[in-house]
Parts: sequence; C-alpha cells; structure tokens
Amino acid sequence: MVARRSISVLGSTGSVGCSTLDVIIDHGGADAYDVRVLTGGANAALLAQQAISVRASLAVIQNEAALPDLREALSGTGIEAAAGDAALVAAAGEGVDFCLSAIAGAAGLAPTLAAVRAGSVIGLANKESMVCAGPLVNREVARAGTRILPVDSEHSAIFQVLEHDQTHAIDRIVLTASGGPFRTFSLERMRGVTREEALNHPNWSMGTGISLDSATMFNKGLELIEADQLFPVSGERIEILVHPQSIIHSMVGYRDGSVLAQLGAPDMRTPIAYALGWPRRVSAPVEQLDFVALSRLDFEAPDELRFPALRIAREAMMAGGLAPCAMNAAKEVAATAFLDQRIPFLEIAAVVENVLEEFDHATEAASLEDVIAADRRARTHAYEIMQRRARRSA
Ligand code: NAD
Ligand code: MG
Repeated sequence: MVARRSISVLGSTGSVGCSTLDVIIDHGGADAYDVRVLTGGANAALLAQQAISVRASLAVIQNEAALPDLREALSGTGIEAAAGDAALVAAAGEGVDFCLSAIAGAAGLAPTLAAVRAGSVIGLANKESMVCAGPLVNREVARAGTRILPVDSEHSAIFQVLEHDQTHAIDRIVLTASGGPFRTFSLERMRGVTREEALNHPNWSMGTGISLDSATMFNKGLELIEADQLFPVSGERIEILVHPQSIIHSMVGYRDGSVLAQLGAPDMRTPIAYALGWPRRVSAPVEQLDFVALSRLDFEAPDELRFPALRIAREAMMAGGLAPCAMNAAKEVAATAFLDQRIPFLEIAAVVENVLEEFDHATEAASLEDVIAADRRARTHAYEIMQRRARRSA
C-alpha cells in the first residue's frame, strides 16, 4: 500500500477551504490522505464538522472565544483542538507533504511562512503572502528546499502552460480578468453602488474580501504582483486582459508567436486538484466545458480610469520594497470601511492611493517583523486618511 500523503488546510472554513475539502473527500478523504491540521477563523461548528469528516489530527480556530464550542463539538472524537494566532502559526509549522494556504488577507502571511519554513510544499491560494512579502517568501522557499504550487486560478493556468525549460522564449504573460460586476458601469454609476452589488460576482462564488476586490479590480492588481513574484517574467511583460466569461484563466505568449492558454469552468476545484495532485493530474468534481453552449469568448482592454486599482498596483509593483504590502494593508482597511458602509465604493482606491503617496516604503523587507510593521503603519495611515477625506468632503 502506498503511504497516504500528509496534508494541512489553512483557512479550511472559507470558500477555497471548503472547495479543498470537497476535492479531498472526492479522492477518498481519510482513506486517501492523512489530514493533519485544519484551521478556521471563527466558525467552530463548521471546522469541527470538517475535521470529523476527514479525521484530521488537529483543528485550530483563530478566535479564542470559539475554543469552548470547538472543544465541545470535537469531544470524544480524539481530534485535538487549539485556538489563537500563536497556535495557528505553530500548527502551520508542522511539516506536511502538502499545505493548502487559504486564509484570507495579510493574516495568511505568518502561517504560510511557517509552513514554508517547515519544508511543506505549499498550494498557494493566499495571494497576499506574495504581495506583502514575495521576496522574503521566495528566499525562505529556496532555503527550505520546497516549492510553491499556485492555486489562484490565473496563476495555476500560467504554471500549467509555462514551459519551464523554455523561459528564454517567453514574450509575455496575459493575466485574464472577468472585469467583475461593474465591468460595464460608468464612473458615475459606480459612485453609488451598494455592498450587495459589489459582492455579486458574475462568474465566481468566493469569499467576501476577494469578491469586493474583484469589483474594484484590486484583485487583479494583487494578482499582477503575485505573478511577478511567482514567475521568471519581469513585471512589464505581464499584461491584463478583460475576458468576461472567465473560461480562459490566463495565457503565456512565446517569442515564436505561439500563445498557450489554460481553459476550464470557473471552479476553484480545478486549480486546487491540480496543485494537490502535482506533478500528476488527478480528477476533480467539476463540470467539463461545453464549447457549443459557450459559443464565444470575448476580450476587452482594461480601463484604468474606471478601475484605478490596476494602475495603483502596477506602480506599487514597480516601486517594490514594502509598497505592495502597504497597498494591500490600506486596501484591506478601506474595503472593510466600504463593507461597513462608512465610505463609498470609489473611495477605496482613492484612500489606497493617498496612503501610497505619503508612505515611505522604499526599503526591502528583511524579515517577517519588517512586513508586519509596514502593514501596521499603512493601516494606521489609512484610518487617518479616511478621516481627513471625510472632513474635507463634509
Ligand atoms: P474566505 O473569506 O471565504 O475564507 C478565509 C478563511 O480564512 C476562512 O477559513 C476564515 O475563517 C479564515 N480567516 C479569516 N481571517 C483570519 C485570520 N485573521 N486568522 C486566521 N484565519 C482567518 O476567503 P476565500 O475566498 O476562501 O479566499 C482565501 C484566500 O484565497 C484569499 O487570499 C483569496 O484572495 C484567495 N483566493 C480565493 C479564491 C476564491 O475563489 N475564493 C480564488 C483565488 C484566490
Ligand atoms: Mg484569481
């Protein structure tokens, strides 16, 4: 009998986490994998149910107030329970064959880095790790002798069609974008959009944070920086292309004129299964594409006037250092303010741009502590700027 591969899922209770559990269970669950650690933010009931369904060894909930519920739900199962940020990082640092990193936001960085340092192969959904600390993560990956397998659908697509022994011949990467729910909206119309409209993505069902990021197109900005960090292609050679159907997940163009694309239904279980099985393709519980039903694929140039996030992210990428980390932190603060109905939609990008204009971010991040400090500074700054802008417009 072949030994079961050991795996952990960080952020198992989220959208990507639940899709990952689907794939694991489709492959046979505990009979196929030795599931060590599952982690969640605050939903103890779901985390316990998942841990029982795949017979995990340990379930960690970030919110310490939820620990009694988690313990209660796991009592008699033999599954250990723990809570808090330190427990989460310690659990992530337990080396496994494959660790799916799917915590939302900059909060995913420390656990992801712990998993890298433990030498686990990382299935990376948490793009913020590469945005906030790409050079640091890449250094630690090399030091630990491990690798990152992208799970973000675009980066999985690029990874699948990038001929790793032909990098001399790559002309460009084409990163596709759905354009989000406001693709056809005028700026005037975007001014008054609601939280519900912003979270209503046309093609993908995802967590709240990334859904809003798709509406502002900060998601594509983060993905641009993520691609720059993951692939041996310089940032200027990464183009963004709006493709409303989200069927082509991204492409690599070669100097001989060939363009290789990866296509699939907009379902995260495909890139999750690809990373989980790599280097062997495995099955995923997804629909096959029906080209006749699709009948056409459309393409448009991105509009940086209506979606300034694209320009802001490219500038942050070119500035390098801690600029992408500051951009992400300011974006998380402004996005939360919009979701709480404290600022209008178009203010999100305006706040981020103001933070970056006034932020001293030229220095490279030498350590996780440097990144965390820059993230904190940018958050504080974003709150100040929101207050300043609110006073000015009052
Ligand atoms: P989500 O909000 O649905 O789930 C996030 C998970 O992280 C949950 O388990 C949540 O409980 C946990 N979490 C949240 N805050 C935490 C904290 N401070 N500490 C510890 N755990 C915390 O998010 P999602 O949509 O699954 O996205 C997860 C990551 O994957 C993000 O980085 C996102 O950009 C990326 N991603 C998501 C999709 C998608 O289809 N949803 C696609 C590509 C990439
Ligand atoms: Mg994506």
